[in-house]
Amino acid sequence: MERLKKRFSLLSAIIDALIEPPETVGYPFTKLELPETYRGAIVIDPEKCTGCGLCVRDCPAQGLELVKKSRHEFKLIHYPARCAYCGQCSISCRRKAISHSNQLVGSTSNPEALVVVLKEKEDEEQG
Ligand code: SF4
Ligand code: SF4
Repeated sequence: MERLKKRFSLLSAIIDALIEPPETVGYPFTKLELPETYRGAIVIDPEKCTGCGLCVRDCPAQGLELVKKSRHEFKLIHYPARCAYCGQCSISCRRKAISHSNQLVGSTSNPEALVVVLKEKEDEEQG
């Protein structure tokens, strides 16, 4: 009797698996819908970023770099291969200039190919 029960439950599991749609998606061939709150690729609002460096200071993974040429010239660089996608930079930024998008970061065997210059401010941009 016990054997028969086991066989029945196995059979019902097989039938369920055949009928129900899969939990997984066929990414990258199917578009992956990520939740709004997903901590994906880092984005910046260049209008808001002042180059203060708070995000760089607080990043636990050296995922950001601020290259200052002069007081008014700087470059904010993101290194996705180092980033832990922890969200600390967006918490630290007082101007809400840096945040996560809900987009996935691409993959590559060359981490340098992922490096992004988030903001580059030249001296002539000053008003
Ligand atoms: S993103 Fe925010 S914290 Fe980072 S340098 Fe710009 S203003 Fe400062
Ligand atoms: S998400 Fe975290 S690890 Fe990535 S750049 Fe921001 S603070 Fe650094």
